[in-house]
Amino acid sequence: MARLVMKFGGTSVADLDRIRNVARHVKREVDAGHEVAVVVSAMAGQTNTLVGYCRDAAPLHDAREYDAVVASGEQVTSGLLAIALQEMGVNARSWQGWQIPIRTDESHGAARIREIDGAVLIERLKQGQVAVVAGFQGLAPDNRISTLGRGGSDTSAVAIAAAIQADRCDIYTDVDGVYTTDPRIVPKARRLDRIAFEEMLEMASLGAKVLQVRSVEMAMVHGVRTFVRSSFDDPDAPQTGKDGLPPGTLICDEDELVEQQVVTGIAFAKDEAQISIRNVADKPGVAASVFGPLSDANINVDMIVQNISPDGKTTDITFTVPESEYDRALKVLEDRREAIGFAALEGARDVVKVSVIGIGMRSHAGVAAQCFRGLAEKGINIRAITTSEIKISVLIDSAYTELAVRTLHSLYGLDG
Ligand code: ASP
Ligand code: MG
Repeated sequence: MARLVMKFGGTSVADLDRIRNVARHVKREVDAGHEVAVVVSAMAGQTNTLVGYCRDAAPLHDAREYDAVVASGEQVTSGLLAIALQEMGVNARSWQGWQIPIRTDESHGAARIREIDGAVLIERLKQGQVAVVAGFQGLAPDNRISTLGRGGSDTSAVAIAAAIQADRCDIYTDVDGVYTTDPRIVPKARRLDRIAFEEMLEMASLGAKVLQVRSVEMAMVHGVRTFVRSSFDDPDAPQTGKDGLPPGTLICDEDELVEQQVVTGIAFAKDEAQISIRNVADKPGVAASVFGPLSDANINVDMIVQNISPDGKTTDITFTVPESEYDRALKVLEDRREAIGFAALEGARDVVKVSVIGIGMRSHAGVAAQCFRGLAEKGINIRAITTSEIKISVLIDSAYTELAVRTLHSLYGLDG
């Protein structure tokens, strides 16, 4: 017997037929003797509709009322799934975030979970009742409903799994796992059987949209084994894959990885823009004068490259920001042209950050050199480079995205 959290995303609960299908998945686990808590998203498209209502009602609206409105999508699906389960003879009840409660901070619209007392849920699970929890929502310190930011029900699921000490958190979604790269770009991409938390965190932050980044952080911190699988599998098919699991990807501690490859995946992020500041003084305080105001304006800076000055007088600084913040970032800097003291401000929107990821890099030399050589052979120019222990990122012209990703994918032996 195991204790499981099963999470179903919006496409999996898009209508009543699909909700019944979800109920069959849940019933299968209950019949196998497991204790089950379910976390659901709103029906596909519903959250967008609700967000749209708020915007139409008033472009600048009270974030607490926004939360009251958008949290309702999950209230509906949690209740409907409980009904569908009861209809199949499964003992189940719905739980809203405030009922458990899932306590969050005060940032309405983008709240972070602070704590969940799992005691009541555990007691009910032990009595054989399925808990159907509304994802995405919680209770803020002001005693009002909060929501966790778009895609937040992944984080709800992992947080519930940590709170009830679940053996596994199963994420049922519209893809059957995590791939070595986006299969739409590289048809030879392979599904990974397992991936380490750290690697998944990089993949998710760098553009692989399977899970909300925060949910992976949370899984890593609490050691929640997380299994990504397709909700379109036949619920009644025997679960006979590896470890008694169907096709999917287990996100786990690196100790649990069986065969470790040097490179696990290639991710890419198109929503980057590059900014270069020419001829700033090469003296203490200049970087602070550039990045301080950007940070004050809440603009996230990612890759940063500063040249060694040839004459000890001036240098160039290049960095990236989210494309959506590009215009704002240029304005912040232009407004401070005098204070920073630069000759020119240049930028490019049509850039992409391609990243090679793998914990095996820690113990293998030459991975970066191989990447640069591979791109050079295809005539792809690298604008900026950053590395960490387990990843190498290069900024290139977005026209070369597919070529670069395909080249690196086969270079590191990932083609299936
Ligand atoms: N329904 C919410 C959204 O669309 C939360 C989620 O689905 O994870 O962002
Ligand atoms: Mg989602």
